[in-house]
Amino acid sequence: MDLFCYRGGRLFAEDVDVARIAAEVGTPAYIYSQGTFVDHLRKMQEAYADLETTICFSVKACGNLHILKLMAQQGSGFDIVSGGELYRALAAGADPAKVVYAGVGKTDEEIVAALQAGIGYFNIESEQELENLIRLVERQGTPAAAVKAALRVNPDVDYQTHTYMTTGKKDTKFGVDIERAVAVFEKYGRQRSVLLRAIHVHLGTGGKTIDPYVDAVTKVLPLIDRLRQSGHTIEALDLGGGYGADYETQTVPSAGQYAQGLVPLLKSKNLQLILEPGKSICANAAILLTRVLYTKQGGSKRFVIVDAGMNDLIRPSLYDAFHFIWPAQTQPHLVPTARSQDLQMEGREVVDVVGPICEGADFLAKDRALPPVQRGDLLAIFTAGAYGFTMSSNYNSRPRVPEVLVEGGTFRVIRRRETYEDLVALER
Ligand SMILES: *Cc1c(COP(=O)(O)O)cnc(C)c1O
Repeated sequence: MDLFCYRGGRLFAEDVDVARIAAEVGTPAYIYSQGTFVDHLRKMQEAYADLETTICFSVKACGNLHILKLMAQQGSGFDIVSGGELYRALAAGADPAKVVYAGVGKTDEEIVAALQAGIGYFNIESEQELENLIRLVERQGTPAAAVKAALRVNPDVDYQTHTYMTTGKKDTKFGVDIERAVAVFEKYGRQRSVLLRAIHVHLGTGGKTIDPYVDAVTKVLPLIDRLRQSGHTIEALDLGGGYGADYETQTVPSAGQYAQGLVPLLKSKNLQLILEPGKSICANAAILLTRVLYTKQGGSKRFVIVDAGMNDLIRPSLYDAFHFIWPAQTQPHLVPTARSQDLQMEGREVVDVVGPICEGADFLAKDRALPPVQRGDLLAIFTAGAYGFTMSSNYNSRPRVPEVLVEGGTFRVIRRRETYEDLVALER
């Protein structure tokens, strides 16, 4: 599932002992495996090879320029949700035709920048947004036929995930109700400034089965048929992202399994398929490496205090997300056999792994059975590549941590650690 493996009790990122990285760049640090990114992308490309498929990696999941450049070189396009992400994607050498732009609150400035770049699809989230896009296209004098849009619809399927991660139900701020879609096409589908040519759905994130995707496709295909019968040209179906990532060993469908469920439904429909994977490509492609500062007993609890906090990785605090944590150096008999919440293994003690931030919510794991750890030990927080660094902040005036990219036996810093001067630079 990824290229973070123990060798003789020591954790390696590809062929680099992570302790070597800690010695050179310090902790905490995000450590990415290039081979894992490439492998996950390739598996997805291969899984959907029977359809005309464009994969648009979700920039918000992991937006470092060097990562985006790598993805672009491997043939990926990008799913963006802001002007800043457009800027990043272009700076990384993205093919603008393979950029799709979602988001309920696109500003005029952001829309104009995307028009000037010539992106592939505006993923429209409301009628007012579409009217505004048409207005801006006409004002700019952008050539007709140059601007394509997809209507984001809510197929109202239950994604069975944390409520903060559901986006495809009714009563969400995203997209328009699927029942409204025909009316929207009737109203805007025949003007020539913006070509409304596709349907977009994005159901949410963190699902564990393919069922919601099959449901969504089953609801959307009749809509596409109906629109075509009314004379609208529908060129593409954008299925969004949210494909599972193995936060625990083999608990979600593989890219191949998703494709097995979806490709037969979409074959011979004469549709370009667009996919916007984030997590499923990058979650397993990184660890957050942290060092134990102190251990202590508090009441009946045992605490392991580490140098990474919720400002560095907010997913446990925000979503109650599970991240497997394990010492980067351990005795061979204590190497984990799987990354799992219910690992069976002797000789562990139950601890809370907490950070240095002044908030009760600052934890990375609660009631977690770990091998005994001591001050100075390195801990790896696994599956930290998605919404890890990109959601990090300077809270408590903590400089953001470096990002390191490993390729085979070598590594390089792709974002340096921030300094105290960086923290105040914009206030001088
Ligand atoms: C966040 C997002 C994605 C990526 O979601 P993952 O769960 O990381 O795959 C894709 N499309 C849109 C519109 C998004 O907002």
